[in-house]
Amino acid sequence: MSTTTDKPGERLPYLISKLKAPRIAERLDQTASSARENSWSYEQFLETLLEAEVFARDASGTRNRIRHASFPANKSLEDFDFTAQPAAERPLIQHLAQLAWVTEHANVCFFGPPGTGKTHLAIALAIRACQEGHRVAFATAQQWIDRLEAAQHSNSLDQELKRLERYGLLVIDEIGYLPLERQAANLLFALIARRYERGSVIVTSNRGFEAWGEILGDQMVAAALIDRLVHHAQIIALKGKSYRLKDRGSQVKPTDQAAGLRPSA
Ligand code: ADP
Ligand code: MG
Repeated sequence: MSTTTDKPGERLPYLISKLKAPRIAERLDQTASSARENSWSYEQFLETLLEAEVFARDASGTRNRIRHASFPANKSLEDFDFTAQPAAERPLIQHLAQLAWVTEHANVCFFGPPGTGKTHLAIALAIRACQEGHRVAFATAQQWIDRLEAAQHSNSLDQELKRLERYGLLVIDEIGYLPLERQAANLLFALIARRYERGSVIVTSNRGFEAWGEILGDQMVAAALIDRLVHHAQIIALKGKSYRLKDRGSQVKPTDQAAGLRPSA
């Protein structure tokens, strides 16, 4: 039992060992001195400590890395129909699945109309990266911007960008679905500029680079961003009709009938 004679923090080693959090035990003293020196908030101190533990645990398993990446769906190269999308050349995609490019901090860009498999291939490659032990984070461009805006509002944009350097691969999905405000475009630029030669990104977009000036609302920002993105990058332009509409119109699939859907739904 704690008594008034206990020094503050005296029971921490015991409490931390009860939580089975050895990384917190290891880093407690050093993190506490950094916090004092740099006048961190309580939240920042706790976050730094918890992150050390959480990341170390994540590193111990693909399953955890995949969960941590927050993919919107589970997609694999095995369930990608390459005959339906000849623009995604199987040997090239299989080469990318070896992930040398992630080790080299290079990038992959998928372009193409909606439903052509951009997000599918991005997730499939990113899951491979999780399996190979890379830390991965997936979000749409808008979600990345929201996250960076929140960091900026709490004066921690630089810290957040630095924190993201711990990830081997970031997926930025759906650049170009909506035109961006100036501030949002600057944040997207900051994210990609920070990744340059430090870590990899996969970006997907339904608009070609020629339209990015319009999306970002500024030709110079777009040019500078594209320059960093493509310096070391594989660019893949998917083509054709949406896979979502495949086989629709001409026939009703049995599953659609079962669900009471019309072919055009
Ligand atoms: P995009 O991101 O280009 O809009 P998605 O990757 O989200 O398209 O694809 C839409 C849906 O169709 C997803 O469920 C995806 O798994 C599936 N899909 C797309 N292309 C293929 C393909 N070639 N083989 C198998 N499934 C595909
Ligand atoms: Mg998509």
